[in-house]
Amino acid sequence: MFIVDVPASKSVHPATLTAKREFSVSSIKRILVTGGAGFLGSHLCERLVDEGHDVVCLDNFFTSQKSNVAHLLGRQNFELVRHDITQPLWLEVDEIYNLACPAAPGHYQFNPIKTVKTSVLGAIHVLGMAKRCRAKVLQASTSEVYGDPEVHPQPESYRGAVNTLGPRACYDEGKRVAETLFMDYHRSNGVNVRIVRIFNTYGPRMHPYDGRVVSNFIRQALGGEDITIFGDGRQTRSFCYRDDLIEGMVRMMNGPDEFVGPVNIGNPDEFTIRQLAELTLELTSSKSTLIERPLPEDDPTQRKPDITLARARLGWEPTIKLRDGLSKTIEWFRTIDMRHYRAPTPNY
Ligand code: NAD
Ligand code: UDP
Repeated sequence: MFIVDVPASKSVHPATLTAKREFSVSSIKRILVTGGAGFLGSHLCERLVDEGHDVVCLDNFFTSQKSNVAHLLGRQNFELVRHDITQPLWLEVDEIYNLACPAAPGHYQFNPIKTVKTSVLGAIHVLGMAKRCRAKVLQASTSEVYGDPEVHPQPESYRGAVNTLGPRACYDEGKRVAETLFMDYHRSNGVNVRIVRIFNTYGPRMHPYDGRVVSNFIRQALGGEDITIFGDGRQTRSFCYRDDLIEGMVRMMNGPDEFVGPVNIGNPDEFTIRQLAELTLELTSSKSTLIERPLPEDDPTQRKPDITLARARLGWEPTIKLRDGLSKTIEWFRTIDMRHYRAPTPNY
């Protein structure tokens, strides 16, 4: 056994609230998190560091900033590597969470060719590493593999309706190929894989200018700007708070090897975009006005996960209601200085 310092911090997992914890050396893993400085990646790194693992966070900071992981830099079991996952890398690890990929429509459409490369080459590189190291590797896939779904809610068995030619295809098809690569490395090379399909997730550390609906609405409401509803606002999404999501992802990684997924991780409580706008106005006490803007091409009309499989195989289900999660997110948005955030770096 050995002792790891765990600084008391406001945003830690409850298990870390003691000043020092003991870890058994045999349970400590070397874990790579690609996209580890992003919204979800930074929370995942935080959790894994708090559990005592030896964590390598890899990121090229395309849609994130070092401040997301700055609080981890002094920890002896945390390492930050600036690297672009489209280039090969050589590390020895036991587990890999592959999150590197722009996730917001505005971010992934900024350089769509790069988005495809990130998903496809990124998957090849982490799978190659997992094969060499005999590591376990988890892919952060997405509900976007279902496209604009004709089946509602969406179970994992639904094969999707993606427009291969549209502006969302760089992301959707890139993630679909990544899933294919994961299954082929698993079948052909025996690589120990996991696939989770993440549905809309929100929370503190979302990029305030990522253009996603939750960040846009909160930023606009707090700034007294008009709230931009795309289309008539009757399209639906199901919003999962980040803590629930991270719990589901970690359970999947730690689950039995024979359960490779894909498994939906998301909150099945479904809301129209107009309802989300109204709730945001209420929780921020904002006087902003709702205005309609054109609906982007191929914008899915409905989305709600069927989480029967996650409940049965992982014993997982979300615990945080939208009202509560949104309040926490608004609280965080009130604390940040927007001038420290910038749009995606040009020429990536
Ligand atoms: P994010 O943009 O905050 O995080 C992605 C991270 O990947 C960023 O830190 C970014 O700089 C990094 N990155 C991008 N391209 C890279 C490259 N070529 N090399 C190295 N790093 C690179 O987004 P997020 O919401 O935290 O999403 C994380 C993962 O979860 C993504 O793979 C995304 O597709 C998936 N996902 C997220 C959601 C959601 O609602 N948040 C939904 C479905 C899937
Ligand atoms: N949306 C909106 N106003 C905004 C941003 C987004 O009405 O300012 C809508 C968007 O058209 C979509 C939904 O909100 O129907 C969710 O968009 P987001 O970009 O967050 O995620 P995704 O479409 O990938 O689910």
